[in-house]
Amino acid sequence: MGRIYNFSAGPAMLPVEVLKEAAEEMLDYKGSGMSVMEMSHRSKVYEGIIQEAEKDLRELMNIPDNYKVLFLQGGASQQFAAVPMNLMKNKVADYIITGQWAKKAYQEAALYGKANAIASSADKTFSYIPDCSDLPISEDADYVYICENNTIYGTKFKSLPNTKGKDLVADISSCILSEPIDVTKYGLLFGGVQKNVGPAGVVIAIIREDLITEDTLPGTPTMLKYKTHADNASLYNTPPAYGIYICGKVFKWIKNMGGLEAMKEKNEIKAKLLYDYLDESKLFKGTVVKEDRSLMNVPFVTGNEELDAKFVKEAKAAGLENLKGHRSVGGMRASIYNAMPYEGVEALVKFMRKFEAENL
Ligand SMILES: *Cc1c(COP(=O)(O)O)cnc(C)c1O
Repeated sequence: MGRIYNFSAGPAMLPVEVLKEAAEEMLDYKGSGMSVMEMSHRSKVYEGIIQEAEKDLRELMNIPDNYKVLFLQGGASQQFAAVPMNLMKNKVADYIITGQWAKKAYQEAALYGKANAIASSADKTFSYIPDCSDLPISEDADYVYICENNTIYGTKFKSLPNTKGKDLVADISSCILSEPIDVTKYGLLFGGVQKNVGPAGVVIAIIREDLITEDTLPGTPTMLKYKTHADNASLYNTPPAYGIYICGKVFKWIKNMGGLEAMKEKNEIKAKLLYDYLDESKLFKGTVVKEDRSLMNVPFVTGNEELDAKFVKEAKAAGLENLKGHRSVGGMRASIYNAMPYEGVEALVKFMRKFEAENL
């Protein structure tokens, strides 16, 4: 049995090196006589794991001291509620709707206050990023919200919106650690780790300290207050301990590779291989406007649903799995996150060329 190339949008591939190391440490983590799954989150040895993970993440993302790093649970979807509950002081927030995840966050915020959809690309099935240079930002908006990389549609904000001085909140679930990012441009960043960093069950939130207050909406559960977790260094209750341990290994893996600049370069080379082929292909077509293409998620179609289905089936038989597009858009989608090797994309393009020759 060999490993396949898994193009799933998430949970997604993890680096083989990380999986091997975890396997080696499974029964006896560094002489502790137990696995990381079995140890107290209050133990010295676990404290070392979570503290080192935070330190490495801070180094990788160049996170300033006035930002807290939190390891949370509940998935990115829980942040759709946590964000308004913690930040909606005026009960007003502006949302840019670039896909389903942004829309879900917007709908959740509307439960707690006035959520304004100030821009949207719904008119063209979210195949582009709207011009965000001069939006009607609400005077009393508590924040402006974006989903920075749209996992389902394959678009990415290449420049951040002009928030006219308001704090920017971003869901970076599907682009976290894929390239360098200027944390100081955001008030709050969050991402589920199962796309690009680790096992499902961990959410990383990076929040500027002045946004962490007691002044949350009435009824905000203790567990959804950022302050609860910030005051306790992510150890208020039992954290997703094993997941954080794997994330820590992935941070080291990226550091060893040369950090986020090196990661970006690798990701650009991988994405270019696939996009260049899509641009020359007579059978396959990318669905996103070129300027807004994601480095991580690449949706494409043949224009014929039966042929799409045939492609997905034959690709799977060739060891290229999970290429079916999201159920809401159809077609195909190749997710090529950090852990997808160049060879995987190469194998995909080779297979696509063969399929094109056979089916055109
Ligand atoms: C996957 C994804 C989510 C949902 O994450 P969960 O952890 O399943 O809640 C939210 N936003 C984006 C951008 C995603 O890619």
